[in-house]
Amino acid sequence: MTPRVFSGIQPSGDLHIGNYLGAVQNWVAIQRQYASVFCIVDYHAITVPYEPADLRTRTREMAISLLAAGIDPEVATLFVQSAVPEHTELAWIFNTITPLGELERQTQFKEKAQRQESVSAGLLNYPVLQAADILLYRAEVVPVGEDQVQHLELSREVARRWNARFAPPDAPFFQEPQPLLTPTRRIMGLDGQAKMSKSLGNTVGLLEPPDDVWAKLRPAVTDPKRIRRTDPGTPEVCNIYHLHRAFNPEQTVEHVAVQCRAAGWGCLDCKRVLFEGMERTLVPIRERAAEIRASPGRIEEVLRGGAAAARAIARETLRSVKHMMGLDAGLLS
Ligand code: ADP
Repeated sequence: MTPRVFSGIQPSGDLHIGNYLGAVQNWVAIQRQYASVFCIVDYHAITVPYEPADLRTRTREMAISLLAAGIDPEVATLFVQSAVPEHTELAWIFNTITPLGELERQTQFKEKAQRQESVSAGLLNYPVLQAADILLYRAEVVPVGEDQVQHLELSREVARRWNARFAPPDAPFFQEPQPLLTPTRRIMGLDGQAKMSKSLGNTVGLLEPPDDVWAKLRPAVTDPKRIRRTDPGTPEVCNIYHLHRAFNPEQTVEHVAVQCRAAGWGCLDCKRVLFEGMERTLVPIRERAAEIRASPGRIEEVLRGGAAAARAIARETLRSVKHMMGLDAGLLS
């Protein structure tokens, strides 16, 4: 059987170049190689304050962005998490075998909790729902950015713990999913302060108009020690240089490094060359997004088909899980 890959993304804001370079690019690259299941995780997005009308729009926009980025619904399953209720059902089951201490130790929880006045139990249990997302499809491979590696370790732990408790010792039911990282596993925000993230407002959107992209790039933080135009720079510590590596061919990247070290270019010259490289990637994505928008009913059709395909797999897994746990005395759906 073809191994299955699962990955999810929150509809909490626009798909940005961090998501694209860290994860979605990989989704596109491997979608034909694996049985691919990609999910817009709206149940994850509601663990922090949000507006219902915005969530609806953003979920739709995320679907458009993913298709524009190259996800092909003919070969991959693309769906919205809340359309497949088995996710929350399995998450409840996993909650009962997950120690509280393990959840409290998660870095992302600690970071997000700090930013909020009141912290919901949902925010704490977020990685349990994530374990359910992945294991529901018994996925072996999970293409994610570096920020998700700790969560994925928790998913592996959940799989081990559930197997040890409920599966026969010689026949583990869940496989331990493996992360698949890209070379650009962590993209920093243009402020150079923290990882690029939808919730931090330091992103460059995949579908942003070129003028807006340039307006963000222009003031972006570079090598902090390069103060005057004539100061030689250190490319390795510059966020813009890392973006060059993601968007420009090797030859250009080498040239950028030489110019930076010799103070041949100013930071603005360097950003212009980056902008050109970014546009080569972004123009076709914007064009595909415009085509999708021009085709009424297309998104609904893709998401409806995706949810049906995902649910068929999810039901099967949950049926076995409930049976093995003695949860089948009532009628199974
Ligand atoms: P965000 O942090 O922007 O809300 P998500 O949590 O929805 O993004 O993550 C979607 C995918 O994008 C995950 O696989 C995550 O690891 C990846 N990702 C998010 N931010 C970055 C980043 N700055 N660099 C690399 N990958 C990232």
